[in-house]
Amino acid sequence: MRLAACLLFVASAALVVRAQGPEFDLLIRNGHVIDARNGVDAVTDVAIAKGKIAAVAASIAPSRARDVVDASGFYVTPGLIDIHSHVFWGPEVNAAYSNGYSAVQPDSHSFRAGQTTLVDAGGSGWRNFPQFKEQVIDRSKTRVLAFLNIVGSGMKGGAVEQNLADMDAKQTAARIKEYPGVIIGIKVAHYAGPEWDPVIRAEEAGREANVPVMVDFGGHTPPLSLEDLLLKYFRPGDILTHAYAHVNGRVPIVDEETGKVRPYVWEARKRGVIFDAGHGAGSFLFRQAVPAMQQKFYPDVISTDLHIGSMNGGMKDMLNTMSKFLNMGMPLKDAIKANTAKAAEVIKRPDLGHLGVGADADVAVLTLRRGKFGFVDVGGGKLLGDQKLECELTVKGGQVVWDLNGISRPLWNEMKEPGGRGAAVR
Ligand SMILES: [Zn+2]
Repeated sequence: MRLAACLLFVASAALVVRAQGPEFDLLIRNGHVIDARNGVDAVTDVAIAKGKIAAVAASIAPSRARDVVDASGFYVTPGLIDIHSHVFWGPEVNAAYSNGYSAVQPDSHSFRAGQTTLVDAGGSGWRNFPQFKEQVIDRSKTRVLAFLNIVGSGMKGGAVEQNLADMDAKQTAARIKEYPGVIIGIKVAHYAGPEWDPVIRAEEAGREANVPVMVDFGGHTPPLSLEDLLLKYFRPGDILTHAYAHVNGRVPIVDEETGKVRPYVWEARKRGVIFDAGHGAGSFLFRQAVPAMQQKFYPDVISTDLHIGSMNGGMKDMLNTMSKFLNMGMPLKDAIKANTAKAAEVIKRPDLGHLGVGADADVAVLTLRRGKFGFVDVGGGKLLGDQKLECELTVKGGQVVWDLNGISRPLWNEMKEPGGRGAAVR
């Protein structure tokens, strides 16, 4: 009797274990983890459970996880954050980046480049942000956040963006406060007049709502002073995007006569101004970036300025853009930090961009390929390089959302439940 009871107990205990399943949903083993926020730069294991990072340790037994990825030879990083993209796509004719054709669908570009968070840079303004949220943010697997345009109607191009009467600091700040953590900043772009008003009003809203201002500077007639923007109008934490551009109506950060980064640009960095790559289709030139890198003026953040004009040009995607910086001499760990921990800090979302236990399980597994590669800037100039980042696997909230070579999957002829859990990406 006693033996029977004992056996029954053992059997039921085993059933409980089986019903509960393994402790972790996914284990990424043996990868070189770069997590700047938590000071990790070493080969280590990362375990995920219930959509969160559950453990980070030198050796975690594979038997403790349902699915196991061998990331030997790969880099494992927090999911990348792109602080400048254009994803308010929609059917409105002549609406550019604000419910228009020039913006792109976030999920078609994000995960394949290791990105789990895309920040739309000013597509919507306070008037049409609710439409952007319903139409794109709430329907995307990618985490989509937003800089709100200081123009109430957003980035629709043409006369809409020249209308000072539609740049309202109070309404802008009020909308930001309605969506804390989703609207993470304010964007100023494309205004061509001689006034500072768009910047002044964005700064007023930024102070009121405690968020940074990102400025796409240039194109003013007559030109406005970059020095004044960086040292007088900007607060620490504000962002100059398109840092390595040379466009009409704005002096570039590298003085092309002396080849030096301008002293007031260094001074701005010292006072906490953020310099963002913002590559795009017209805003990144090697003749600016190469001398800046030689002088170790690295970007704080390496964003893409993703849109229909940049995606098939020199920019291509986030990893191609980051690879340019590696080949110009920026250390890999700095480039990874720029688009993880630093990007999260810039948008005031410190919950993102790291792999600490309890964080959302947003992870990228990257490979650094060695070979002969070419990289093109917006002027059509080519830089030769010998290293290129590629995305093997992307995990968003614990789910595998991109798996280039099936490293998270069993062989087809060894699957226990053919056709059941067989989808390559669940
Ligand atoms: Zn842009």
